[in-house]
Amino acid sequence: MSLPAPSDRVLSTLNPDGSRFWIRPRLSPGRFLTRRRVVAWGLIALFVLLPRLRIGGRPAFLIDLVTREISIAGAVFRPSDGFLLMLLGLTVVLTVFFVTALWGRVWCGWACPQTVYLEHVFRPIERLWEGNPSAQRKLDAAKLPSWRRVGKWVSYAALAFAVGNVFLAYFVGTDRLERWVTSSPAEHPVGFGVVVFVSAAMFFDFTYFREQTCIVACPYGRLQSVMVDKQSLIIGYDTTRGEPRGKPAKKSLPVVGEPADAARRGDCVDCGACVTTCPTGIDIRGGLQMECIGCAQCIDACDHVMDKLERPRGLIRYTSEDELAGRPRHVWRARTLVYPVLLAVVGALFVWNLGNRTATEVWVLRPAGPTFFPLEHGKVAAQVRIKLENKTDISRTYRVELVEGDVGTLRTPMPSWTLAPGKSAELPLFVDAATTVFHHGQRVVHLRLSDDHGWQKTISVDLIGPDHSGDAPSGAAPTQEHKP
Ligand code: SF4
Ligand code: SF4
Repeated sequence: MSLPAPSDRVLSTLNPDGSRFWIRPRLSPGRFLTRRRVVAWGLIALFVLLPRLRIGGRPAFLIDLVTREISIAGAVFRPSDGFLLMLLGLTVVLTVFFVTALWGRVWCGWACPQTVYLEHVFRPIERLWEGNPSAQRKLDAAKLPSWRRVGKWVSYAALAFAVGNVFLAYFVGTDRLERWVTSSPAEHPVGFGVVVFVSAAMFFDFTYFREQTCIVACPYGRLQSVMVDKQSLIIGYDTTRGEPRGKPAKKSLPVVGEPADAARRGDCVDCGACVTTCPTGIDIRGGLQMECIGCAQCIDACDHVMDKLERPRGLIRYTSEDELAGRPRHVWRARTLVYPVLLAVVGALFVWNLGNRTATEVWVLRPAGPTFFPLEHGKVAAQVRIKLENKTDISRTYRVELVEGDVGTLRTPMPSWTLAPGKSAELPLFVDAATTVFHHGQRVVHLRLSDDHGWQKTISVDLIGPDHSGDAPSGAAPTQEHKP
């Protein structure tokens, strides 16, 4: 049984038969395109330079997947900085909410790398090779790819490799990436595989997937409905002014039989320029749609038409749903006031915690194996395990002392431990103590940790030993690891 065919396209990028409708947007020069180009090329320059910039000897921005460190403006965050990273993530989320509540999808249209590279780098190259949208559609219809299309693919592959490498530099660092790219793949097959995979993903995205990334893959577009309200800045079509749409009325007498106001039209001449220029293929005259990435190309297209018709610009413009309905727009409202307050609180917490971050993180670990060993002369060696992490950018040499010298003697395999920046180590220690110091199999002692740069910390440790009360020796490990 065959299903009835839909009468029209249900998605801007889907034909009625379910095949992909390729968007071939017509470029619309105008004031917003010019400004977007300036912003885009500024961002591209920043995107390329940022992984190379150093602040305090560290990358200005690096999410190092290999060492599991994040460097931002000279500060380094490691997995043990979970709370700080959580605050940082919260700051980013609140900023996105705040910016979206104020300016809608300004990020998508003006600053998202997907839009910036597709609209300002890859599509211009496509136009150079294949010409305008009509010529591109002719190439689409050809059975075999023409030399023009092949030329475009080769250019895209080279660019995708370059963009993919810049992207990757944010996650593995420029030094490691240069090694991967310039040395034989056999020396680092995993690194080489990552470079090839990321470049191939870029090629696929900009050659084939394109606007689908914004429409079906990006979660931000789908979250729009909860982040914007009727006062948020959107790109909208003024229905009151534009409708009823139609070709410009002829300056002639009304046709006999037609209503007397047939000659009275809205400002929209139904030329379709706003639709053919849209990179996601939608008709903004249908109202705010999830597919709209806020690129303002329809504004430039319509302004051009209005200029030619000598009518005022702004039939499509930056506005809000309330403004389009004739109500005033209020920039400051509940959500645009709450977000900055929350941002200030989270930001202050972040700065305070960053400023009070300890140079060395210390954990007391569960003993491995038996918790104590019998020694001669009525003594035992009680096991203590400590983990230290050097959270600074300089090497540090650590020492440990037992505060309660009368309880026993601290035995260590080494007099001191040197940790490189960002490194951690477990210190296996023993406290040799008389069995009489344990009460019910336990004794709390204190260890003083210090380094060669003046850092000091005293921690308390539960020693597990024999039960001096006469019960059987416990010999059991504490139930869980704990942080002093
Ligand atoms: S570009 Fe302007 S005039 Fe042309 S169809 Fe779109 S809204 Fe109407
Ligand atoms: S409707 Fe206008 S602003 Fe939205 S994506 Fe299409 S051209 Fe860009």
